[in-house]
Amino acid sequence: SYSLLRKKALKELCDVSFKQNRGVSTHKLYINGKTVESQATEWVDLHDPATNKVVTRVPISTQSEMEAAVASAKAAYKSWSRTSIMSRQQILFKFQEIIRKNMKELAANITLEQGKTLADAEGDVLRGLQVVEHCCGIPSHFLGHTLAGVAKDLDIHSYRVPLGVTAGITPFNFPAMIPLWMFPVALACGNTHVIKPSERNPGACMMLVEMLTEAGAPPGVVNVIHGTHDSVNFICRHPDIQAISFVGSDQAGKYIYKEGSAHGKRVQSNMGAKNHGVVLPDANKEDTLNQLVGAAFGAAGQRCMALSTAIFVGEAKNWITDLKIRAEKLKVNAGHVPGTDLGPVISPKAKERILSLVQSGVDEGATLLLDGRGISVPGYEQGNFVGPTILTDVKPNMLCYKEEIFGPVLICLNVDTLDEAIAIINANPYGNGTALFTTNGAAARKFTFEADCGQVGINVPIPVPLSMFSFTGSRGSFRGDTHFYGQQGIDFYTETKTVTQLWREKDVTHSQASVSMPVMR
Ligand code: NAD
Repeated sequence: SYSLLRKKALKELCDVSFKQNRGVSTHKLYINGKTVESQATEWVDLHDPATNKVVTRVPISTQSEMEAAVASAKAAYKSWSRTSIMSRQQILFKFQEIIRKNMKELAANITLEQGKTLADAEGDVLRGLQVVEHCCGIPSHFLGHTLAGVAKDLDIHSYRVPLGVTAGITPFNFPAMIPLWMFPVALACGNTHVIKPSERNPGACMMLVEMLTEAGAPPGVVNVIHGTHDSVNFICRHPDIQAISFVGSDQAGKYIYKEGSAHGKRVQSNMGAKNHGVVLPDANKEDTLNQLVGAAFGAAGQRCMALSTAIFVGEAKNWITDLKIRAEKLKVNAGHVPGTDLGPVISPKAKERILSLVQSGVDEGATLLLDGRGISVPGYEQGNFVGPTILTDVKPNMLCYKEEIFGPVLICLNVDTLDEAIAIINANPYGNGTALFTTNGAAARKFTFEADCGQVGINVPIPVPLSMFSFTGSRGSFRGDTHFYGQQGIDFYTETKTVTQLWREKDVTHSQASVSMPVMR
């Protein structure tokens, strides 16, 4: 059934006529409500991570194509920003329905282009869909404030207005969820949008934008451009773009925050992470170990909220052997094969980086308790597979601790007290998420208050907030002010207008102008 889904997803996405004798079809641009073949001279090959075969090619958009995308968004903004909020809501209702109907196709495309398992790919779509569902409540989320009778005959009210053309730049690891953190929120608020999905897997984003048109969004409301650094610079510098949402690595995120801000744009930038799971000896052992294994190795460790670091407090260190037994049982295979727990990582380069960080741990004195480096998957020998890997006796000064590994590697540290564990977490520059496993409420409360991370789980390993909250990673994992989705997402994509109005019941004529600051008592 996967091959059927795969064929369907590809057919929908790619040109049937093969391009320039390369024998490979191409991803299109999406401009003014239509798919457009790029006139690019440079293309990026997109590989299936399970086979490393080229499945399609992604254009590096030309300057004039990118200009056309922004011009289309700018033109669409005039009418879109004035559509009634109720009609925008109706489009969002329809959009969520279409996404739900096409869940399998979206998941198949994600598995093909990104590598994760089909079940995990559905989770990717569902978590994004929840943001769309939250956006369906936009009339309530958009409400302003009124204070009637602030002074005699004088009322003040404030309301939200959209910003204009906004833009999104997304990473490879959640090809559906992260675009859905961006354009539905922007649109619900009355903005238009230009999105540049990851050049490694833009298929799901393309499908979603086409579904939005099917849901009734007018042409130009969302446009898709492709590319890498040049298209990012284009977005950061274009005078008609008012705001940028970015999710990805530190290097790109810091640059985009700086460059976008320097060009007067509002920027929200979600970046890398090193999430610690602290295990107290009073925790429920079975549950904790299962949670740790799922959160460290699921999606082959390529989640910004993966629990990549476990800190065992006191006697809890004796559980590490049982952790290994569970990790060893995980099945590594192509993402579409039923029963697979871990698919491949995104590229040969990513695999090489992961392996070298594991080796650095060994060289610096860590113990390689479980070695997933030499794995070969029958039928997929060319894929970028790394098996579950566990490094123990890790110290905070080791490279494997300091770097975000972004692969199926769990590193384990041992400490004597909860205070020491919290000190390690707080000394780490990242603040995306952390979790504590315990049955002690006082320890949980202490941890919640003292661990300096924006998202805390208590017996919950991947505390990604639901869509009515916001994704509140902090410190080195975030630059900006307001976060993605939830009320903060709406704040990000809107400006506040405050109106002070005086409608006198009776005419009052003063004989002289008052020049002192009006205090409105
Ligand atoms: P990436 O930074 O390589 O790519 C993200 C986007 O930025 C892509 O669209 C890419 O084309 C562009 N880009 C890449 N390098 C650039 C550069 N030097 N200058 C300008 N633009 C550049 O990230 P990735 O490898 O696709 O994603 C993995 C990273 O994303 C991990 O670090 C992960 O933790 C992070 N991430 C964070 C969150 C979060 O919410 N904090 C969520 C998902 C992923």
